Amino acid sequence: MVHCSGGNQKAKAADVLAFFLAPVSKKGRGWKAPGYHYFIEANGTIVEMWPEEKVSNGVKGYNSVSINVCYAGGVDLSVPGNPPVDNRTPQQKASLLILLKSLKAKYPGAEIRSHKDFANKACPSFDATKEYASL
Ligand SMILES: [Zn+2]
Repeated sequence: MVHCSGGNQKAKAADVLAFFLAPVSKKGRGWKAPGYHYFIEANGTIVEMWPEEKVSNGVKGYNSVSINVCYAGGVDLSVPGNPPVDNRTPQQKASLLILLKSLKAKYPGAEIRSHKDFANKACPSFDATKEYASL
């Protein structure tokens, strides 16, 4: 499953992980697992946020069979309402390809899909299902 963070493109994986796990009283989500297994920072760094063998909270109803991959960004923070925008940096695009190719090699039967295929959301702010259909 491909996601965008829906937040600041400069966000670091460690901070996003801390946000997912922090209690609601500390302005976190209070989840036992983060939303993603892999997080791609603006400079293209691929961070393993959660082990693949553990379930993450990416797409309701599909978590037990999904590896969730996210790039930092995906919204225009300069516009009220923060509308979706495909603002992947060239480095993020390159890293997404590398990561998705390697996951596809590891799990040949897997489908690469956009989060929005399964939820009424814009995530990941581009058509990942179409873009990676030939991987
Ligand atoms: Zn998503």
